[in-house]
Amino acid sequence: MDEILEKKKIFDENFDYIKERISVAAKKSGRCADDITLLAATKTVPVEVINYAFEKGLTHMGENRVQEYFEKLPNLIAPIEKRHFIGHLQTNKVAKLVGTVSMIQSVGSERLAAEISKRSLEKGIVTPVLLEVNIGEEISKSGADPKEMLNLCEKCATLEGIKVEGLMAIPPICDETDKMREIFSNIYRLFIDIREKSIDNIMMTTLSMGMSSDYELAIEEGATMVRVGSSLFGKRIYK
Ligand SMILES: *Cc1c(COP(=O)(O)O)cnc(C)c1O
Repeated sequence: MDEILEKKKIFDENFDYIKERISVAAKKSGRCADDITLLAATKTVPVEVINYAFEKGLTHMGENRVQEYFEKLPNLIAPIEKRHFIGHLQTNKVAKLVGTVSMIQSVGSERLAAEISKRSLEKGIVTPVLLEVNIGEEISKSGADPKEMLNLCEKCATLEGIKVEGLMAIPPICDETDKMREIFSNIYRLFIDIREKSIDNIMMTTLSMGMSSDYELAIEEGATMVRVGSSLFGKRIYK
């Protein structure tokens, strides 16, 4: 079967099931399905499959690489409100990206935040962003140290071209449930601590954490958005 047909089939088999599991996990944490946003992580997924997913009711997508995103963009049916950027972003790509997505989720440094702000102001817009928390794994180079997060928020609060709407995290994948739960719960704690500081221009409404292997756990521990790729579209095929 060709890749596009096969991925559409995998999506059909998984979409309702994942939504159902999200709903169950939301109830476990005293919320409902509508409180959780399912964002499809669409790196490597062909544009035909992404469009098919939107026709079937998908509401959000997130791309990782600026170049890949721009290759898909002319053919995407999803309007800007439904398109996020979730990958590692180099400052020299910011000018191109700003104004083409409704949120940049992967802002882990003041330098990147300042560049997004500057380029947004040049285009006369304000870009919603999430600040990325680094969970302390040496292998992951992106994101800010949790201890630095409040400081980063305070700096971002003064940047007029961005609006901080919450946090995002990519914790290391680990098959010990208790450990994962503790990691998610610590991130949630940080999210709430910052929220309680009520910093001007800093909203803490979106907590983006949880992927294919652990999105239910993340929701149980307080995620408001999960980013799911391979469970929706099957194994990624890198070309
Ligand atoms: C690829 C990716 C995901 C989804 O990963 P899966 O394990 O395939 O669900 C989520 N977040 C980010 C930032 C990603 O790059």
